Amino acid sequence: MTATTIDGKAIAAELRARIKAEVARAVGQGRARPGLATVLVGDNPASHTYVRAKRKACAEVEIESFAHELPATASQAEVEQLVSGLNADPRVHGILVQLPLPAGLDEEAILKTLHVEKDVDGFHPLNLGRLAQKGRQPLFVPCTPAGCMVLLQRAGAVLPGARAVVLGRSNIVGMPAALLLVRENATVTICHSRTRDLPGVCREADVLIAAIGQAEMVRGDWIKPGAIVIDVGINRVDDPSRGQGYRLVGDVAFEEAVQVAGAITPVPGGVGPMTIALLLQNTLQAAVRSWEV
Ligand code: NDP
Repeated sequence: MTATTIDGKAIAAELRARIKAEVARAVGQGRARPGLATVLVGDNPASHTYVRAKRKACAEVEIESFAHELPATASQAEVEQLVSGLNADPRVHGILVQLPLPAGLDEEAILKTLHVEKDVDGFHPLNLGRLAQKGRQPLFVPCTPAGCMVLLQRAGAVLPGARAVVLGRSNIVGMPAALLLVRENATVTICHSRTRDLPGVCREADVLIAAIGQAEMVRGDWIKPGAIVIDVGINRVDDPSRGQGYRLVGDVAFEEAVQVAGAITPVPGGVGPMTIALLLQNTLQAAVRSWEV
C-alpha cells in the first residue's frame, strides 16, 4: 500500500488565492486594507528568514505589513511599549511577535501585552486558555496546528472517536494540536521525551501528528496501516550532494512511512506552507472583525 501524499503546498496556494480575492473584494468595497505588524527582536537568522517569508506572503495577497525590528539588547519595557503602540494603531489588525525572544525577555508578559483581538498567532494566554476550555471559543488558533487540522480535513480524516497521537507538547505546536483534536472529539494521547514505548503508542494512532524536531525518528513500523500522518518537523540533515550541503527532512522517515500510512504530508511541502497561509487567514479574520465593530 502506498499512502496518498497530502499536498500542503497546493492546499496553501488555494487558501492564499481565496484570501487574496477576499482582500481585493473588501478593499474594493472601501474597507481598510488588512494590516499585519511583525515584531522581530534580536538577530536570530532563522527568525529573520521566517519574518521575511511572512511579509512576502502578505505582499502576495495584498495584506499590508509593517516591520518592526529591535536589537537583542532591547529591554522588556521597550518591547512592551512597541506592542502597546501597535495595539493602538488602527492600520494594524494583527500583531506577530516572532518567537523565540532573546534570553532575558519575559515572553509571557509580552504576549499578554498584545491586544487579544490582534493576536493572530493565537499565543495570548487568553486565546490558548479558551482553546483548552469546553464551550469557549478562542479568537485565534495557533497557525501551525490550525494548518494541521486543515490538512487532516482535506485528507478525509474522520476525527470523532478516532485515536490520535501527538508527538510533542510545545506551546506552539504539540499542545494546541492536541487541544484541537480533542475539540473534534478524537481520543488524544500526547507524547513527549519521557513517554515510554513511543513506537507502541504510535502504532495505535489512526491520526499521528509528529512535532518533536527529531530527524526521521518515527519509523515505518511505528505506523498503523492506513493511518493519516502529519509531519510538522523541519530538520536539517547533512547532504553533500545538495548545493547548500544539507536537506530538510521531517520527524517521520517518509520513505518507510509512505509504504504503510493511508495519507502523509511531505517535508518540505506539507505543514510548512500551511502555517503562513493560516497566518494570513487569521490577519484577514482580525480585519473583518474590526470592520464589524
Ligand atoms: P520544541 O522543541 O518546543 O518541542 C519539542 C517537543 O518534542 C517537546 O515536547 C519534547 O518533549 C518532544 N521531544 C523531543 N525529543 C523527543 C523524543 N526523542 N521523544 C519524544 N518526544 C520528544 O519544538 P516545536 O514544537 O517548536 O517544534 C517541533 C518541530 O516542528 C521542529 O522540528 C520545528 O522546526 C517544527 N516546526 C515546524 C513548523 C512548520 O511550520 N512546519 C512550525 C513550528 C515548528 P519534552 O516536552 O519532554 O521536552
